[in-house]
Amino acid sequence: MIHYRLGNAVREVAMDQETNELRRVGLKVTHPRMRILQIFDEEGVRHLTAEDVYRKLLAHHEDIGLATVYRVLTQFEAAGIIVKHNFEGGQAVYELDRGKHHDHMIDVDSGKVIEFVSEEIERLQHEIAARHGYVIEDHSLVLYVRPKHGNRKP
Ligand SMILES: [Zn+2]
Repeated sequence: MIHYRLGNAVREVAMDQETNELRRVGLKVTHPRMRILQIFDEEGVRHLTAEDVYRKLLAHHEDIGLATVYRVLTQFEAAGIIVKHNFEGGQAVYELDRGKHHDHMIDVDSGKVIEFVSEEIERLQHEIAARHGYVIEDHSLVLYVRPKHGNRKP
């Protein structure tokens, strides 16, 4: 009983967070928007395709169609809540925009997305742009990788 109450309290706090987030960007608070935002707020969740979101909603017994998922993701992207990545050889991947720059590595075997930040690469990019008489406005770096031999999972 205590656990149940505690669980509810935690859930309500989390829902407040999503409600505030939607209001902050001027989106009306609707059930699909709330639930989809919650999926991205789940611990350990970073990069998801629209189908990943759809499957997670199904697992939570939510009857939200794939078309709605796409529509909400597009609205979130326009509102600046999420960023859409069009990595090669796969479906578009969405992640919450936490305003922290990072680059990506894509495992071409599994499609797994790995984030990384390298001070050295950042510095070099600025140097290269400067050498050509430019300042960097924005950049995105994607490495397409394959597990090293001996590191391969069956
Ligand atoms: Zn990322």
